[in-house]
Amino acid sequence: MEPSVDRSTIWPYVDGEPGPFHYAREAHPVGVEAERVLGGLEGGEALLFSSGMGATTAVVLALLEPGKTIALAQDAYYGTGVLLGELERWGLRHVLFDQTGPPPAEADLVWLEAPSNPFLTMPDLAAAAAHPGLVLCDATAATPVNLRPLEHGCDLVLHSATKYLGGHHDVLLGAVVAKSAEHSSRLHEFRTRSGIVAGPDAAWLLLRGLQTLEARVRRQGETAAELANRLERHERASTVRYPGFGGLVSFDVADGAAARRVETATRLIVNATSLGGVVSTMESRHRWEGARVPEGLLRLSVGLEPLDALWADLEHALEQA
Ligand code: PLP
Repeated sequence: MEPSVDRSTIWPYVDGEPGPFHYAREAHPVGVEAERVLGGLEGGEALLFSSGMGATTAVVLALLEPGKTIALAQDAYYGTGVLLGELERWGLRHVLFDQTGPPPAEADLVWLEAPSNPFLTMPDLAAAAAHPGLVLCDATAATPVNLRPLEHGCDLVLHSATKYLGGHHDVLLGAVVAKSAEHSSRLHEFRTRSGIVAGPDAAWLLLRGLQTLEARVRRQGETAAELANRLERHERASTVRYPGFGGLVSFDVADGAAARRVETATRLIVNATSLGGVVSTMESRHRWEGARVPEGLLRLSVGLEPLDALWADLEHALEQA
């Protein structure tokens, strides 16, 4: 059972001294419990943040300083690159690299994504682990069910817990899991100072989501693998991308107009952004990412609906392509 939600922002001092909980920006009981459970799944020390982007902001500002260089996987979530571009005026450089090979030597922080969104490439974890810099893996799409990056030599794991960890499209949340107590305590300190914190209701929804994580992710993966197979054989779909596990599939249709017709023709699959929920979503990514992605690229996040119902929906939609 999850603990009940304690929404207090203060707790009385004990004999005139602050106890383990005293002010909610520093820590609160449901948050600490959710961090304990997530830390156990990843094999490290977890900290929650107000969103995945909040977690990214905390990592780069707390663990780096002006003049440092981040090597970012070139096909990582586009918002990560946009944020790092924004932070350049504070003296943080970033360079892009192909994560299927070794990271550039000059990097102080190597930023991987497993698998990348929406191209679904996997990083060369062994090559990254051999790099002397800090190595972070955004494992939002893999989840600890499919990959535990700390076991592959990464120093940090990042999640948009808004996606699979929460799992129901109803909580905005981020997490970082650190291998070392030193990184964890620095991130915790920065989180308290900056206030990039997650509230108790969000933490409670994460705890509930984690109870079904494995069952959801396994079933979503089975369905997605079969949908990817069927898409491979469909004459209107090309360049089907599927990394062999997980619930994300992306594929191309002829052009932007065809992508628009397909994404608006589904009935079961919701034409919306985001991913990782029990309800399937699909959208053209060109609207957000521009020239970085083909105009006809559609990203499908497979939910828990029956396989045949999803396939019937996709087949019907692809007739419009
Ligand atoms: N990382 C990945 C791989 C994502 O897909 C996203 C969001 O789409 C983020 C990070 C950012 O997370 P959030 O939307 O929770 O801020």
